[in-house]
Amino acid sequence: MQSFPFNERVEPEKQEVALRLKNFKEIYDFFNNRQVALQAERCVQCGDPFCSDIGCPLSNYIPQWLEAIAEQDIEKAFRLSNESSPFPEVLGRICPQNRLCEGACTLDDGYGAITIGAIEASITDLAFKAGLKIDFPGVTTAKKVAVVGSGPAGISCAHFLLRAGIKVDMFERADKPGGLLTYGIPGFKLDKEIIENRFNILKEAGLTLHLGVKVGEDITFDKLKDEYDAVFIGIGATKGKSSRMEGEDNENVFIAMDFLTSIQKRLFGAMFDHKFDVRAKSVVVIGGGDTAMDCLRTAMREGAKSVTCLYRRDEANMPGSKKEYYNAVEEGVQFLFNESPTKLVIDKDKIVGVDAIKTEMGEKEDDGRQKMIEVKGSEHCIPADVVIMALGFDLEDQKFVPENNIKCNDWGELQVDEKTCRTNINKIYAGGDCRRGADLAVTAAADGRTAAFAIMNDLLI
Ligand SMILES: Cc1cc2nc3c(=O)[nH]c(=O)nc-3n(C[C@H](O)[C@H](O)[C@H](O)COP(=O)(O)OP(=O)(O)OC[C@H]3O[C@@H](n4cnc5c(N)ncnc54)[C@H](O)[C@@H]3O)c2cc1C
Ligand code: SF4
Repeated sequence: MQSFPFNERVEPEKQEVALRLKNFKEIYDFFNNRQVALQAERCVQCGDPFCSDIGCPLSNYIPQWLEAIAEQDIEKAFRLSNESSPFPEVLGRICPQNRLCEGACTLDDGYGAITIGAIEASITDLAFKAGLKIDFPGVTTAKKVAVVGSGPAGISCAHFLLRAGIKVDMFERADKPGGLLTYGIPGFKLDKEIIENRFNILKEAGLTLHLGVKVGEDITFDKLKDEYDAVFIGIGATKGKSSRMEGEDNENVFIAMDFLTSIQKRLFGAMFDHKFDVRAKSVVVIGGGDTAMDCLRTAMREGAKSVTCLYRRDEANMPGSKKEYYNAVEEGVQFLFNESPTKLVIDKDKIVGVDAIKTEMGEKEDDGRQKMIEVKGSEHCIPADVVIMALGFDLEDQKFVPENNIKCNDWGELQVDEKTCRTNINKIYAGGDCRRGADLAVTAAADGRTAAFAIMNDLLI
């Protein structure tokens, strides 16, 4: 261990850009047994592991599994890594590590943080390849829990309940499980087979998956309350925010999720809605978060003539993962920072551009973010055939929530007790984006785990 002075941080190899743009396959080639041990050996095993205590929302046993894999004990590393996380091979791929575990790593200050995410993904990939399995006891109790929604929050809650031998029925309105892991995050960041594999594991462990069932419409929430010992709600927040610009309803203005879902459905073999065909078109994406990055990189792979990101603040203030921003730059996306869109320009019913005004960053405001100042006289037009709005998400109105008196805040987010994810209603728990607003897969996973342990406690298991 502690080889960091002569053993550099190395990222996993990436596919060549020209090749990458031809498909939706994952761009990283994760570590082999030798590379993963070499990278893990860099860890200094500091007394206060900030990576775990402060950086990781799941407080994963990072130094412990780094030590195990550095000693080439794949089984120990795999067991430790899967002890606290419901899907380490997923989060190792998609967490914005620079803001989480790696940003808190002692070596980040000068030497280059440990490649925690890539090591985490590699451990479980290598272990599955070697035939190792996660231990589940099978259904050993008479209790059963209903989980509404099959995204990271729902998967996590189901995983930890199944590990305690509790029967889980999961209800998902979509035709495939996984929530945004399946229909939001594109395959070049997260291979869809990885999600399929996790669901196969959960089904073997005792999960019953009810696909194409919308709770509140196809089955009543009352029925779930009556028939199950507890209900976990993990219904996400996927209603695209409006830009409030005139012309937003034009057929060549897309909401990010509609665009991404339509492409992913085609990749799964469904009919393509040609409205979303961006081949040979100039595409402008408005927004600077993970969703914007995914739309930009998807449009590149779909053969757009040009792909431009319009973001009203500067690069330093971009909320998306740095790793994905650099990947987008490598892939040929043009970034226009400090450009605030003011109007969609439409000629004879067709989008021809976006009017924008330049901005400058000012003093920090009460919310900690720098003020954005518009520069007078800097108005100009950016040509576009298609505009994609990636401005964040709100919660959908789901009638069963108010009908059951589940307490929400002014934004419609379900209110829970932080320590248990319990709502104001007996036996009902909630977590993930539906209680935090659009956030991260890892925080949704943490909520699912919190709720699962509270449910076990309440059911005296
Ligand atoms: C394009 C995009 C890219 C992203 N990239 C990243 C990233 O790189 N890293 C990261 O950490 N996070 C990323 N995120 C955020 C992350 O995906 C979410 O924070 C996370 O998926 C939230 O999990 P969840 O389980 O709360 O909700 P979701 O994943 O939204 O799952 C909710 C599920 O509930 C189902 N559902 C809703 N209502 C009902 C109902 N009434 N009955 C039955 N089922 C219902 C939905 O169909 C859905 O499957 C991204 C998000 C988007 C949109
Ligand atoms: S779950 Fe995310 S934050 Fe935690 S160790 Fe893994 S990559 Fe880092």
